[in-house]
Amino acid sequence: METPVNLLDFDVDGLVAWFAERGEKPFRARQVMRWMHRFGETEFDNMTDVAKSLRAKLAQEACIRPPQAIRDSVSEDGTRKWLLDVGNANAVEAVFIPETNRGTLCISSQAGCALDCAFCSTGKQGFNRNLSAAEIIGQLWLANKLLGGTATPAGAKDADGDADNGRVISNVVMMGMGEPLANFDNVVTALRLMLDDHAYGLSRRRVTVSTSGIVPAMDRLREECPVALAVSLHAPDDALRDRLVPINQKYPLRELMAACRRYLERAPRDFVTFEYVMLDGVNDSDAHARALVALVRDVPCKFNLIPFNPFPNSGFDRSQPERIRRFAGILIDAGIVTTTRKTRGDDVNAACGQLAGQVQDRTRRTVRLVKSMEDRA
Ligand code: SAH
Ligand code: SF4
Repeated sequence: METPVNLLDFDVDGLVAWFAERGEKPFRARQVMRWMHRFGETEFDNMTDVAKSLRAKLAQEACIRPPQAIRDSVSEDGTRKWLLDVGNANAVEAVFIPETNRGTLCISSQAGCALDCAFCSTGKQGFNRNLSAAEIIGQLWLANKLLGGTATPAGAKDADGDADNGRVISNVVMMGMGEPLANFDNVVTALRLMLDDHAYGLSRRRVTVSTSGIVPAMDRLREECPVALAVSLHAPDDALRDRLVPINQKYPLRELMAACRRYLERAPRDFVTFEYVMLDGVNDSDAHARALVALVRDVPCKFNLIPFNPFPNSGFDRSQPERIRRFAGILIDAGIVTTTRKTRGDDVNAACGQLAGQVQDRTRRTVRLVKSMEDRA
């Protein structure tokens, strides 16, 4: 028997086409879409308004298979983290960060990452494989299902003044493991599902892709599915950025800044967010801050400073709080909105860039654990 097709791999157009090949009407595809994504249904037989004959046909040829959570941890500050099995002893993580007026889900796009940024534990792990569209959207599917019922106050507004309609997950950021734009097609399929009213119906402004700066893919994203953009800058000049973010050797800062300006012509927000990891004595001096101000002069932007999250043998230290305050002060004095990221979920190792090293260890540990439980059973 052929392996059943996982319907979580399709965006709406894809599912309509797949239904059409089987002589089924587009509205049937949209019905099934709503069952899968809005109601988290995995059994065709429970889709009560779908014709019985179609349900039987679907059950023969297809399945709805989200990733499995092999670990679910809640931090003292409410941050919740899932470790998701993606086969072959690989795992990725999704993290939910509740705040008063919004709930942000941070999801992964690849198992590992090939880009090898100097300060990133995912990068240190190397590249394993791209996640499928089902594995990417499956993180939202799963979190949505498991978090159901604990909504933020209906009509609450976030800092940007958007109402979030009382959704538990009001924002999605692709800032987990992997470089989203290096897994372009599957990421775009998942983004389309996030935006589609038959699935999650999030606004483009509330879905953010974070990239280390793959310039041609930024141009494609702007054409195919413009959502909010965050760019991992981390250095104000090519010499330093070449070292910290090696993809800079291919797409240097001048090209990256030009790509950001082009992106803004189509972006749902009128600024790019620059992420900047604060590395003690490496990229955190007053001179670095002043050079940044000059670099981004022509790019409407905000800055998000991320205190470095240490991991074993990283070779870097986190900048001192006072240094981060002064650095932020220089950007703010130049008129750039600058925030410093709170470190959340420290006690479950859910902070930025901490995910992978831990995953690898834990995966092995978890696999061992599961195996020893099986042995005992
Ligand atoms: N690959 C994408 C998105 C995932 S990483 C990218 O690089 O943008 C999300 C953010 O965390 C990026 O800005 C990344 O540079 C940063 N990051 C990676 N390792 C980190 C660490 N150890 N401490 C703090 N931030 C880190
Ligand atoms: Fe990959 Fe982003 Fe980590 Fe760089 S920072 S290695 S691009 S996940």
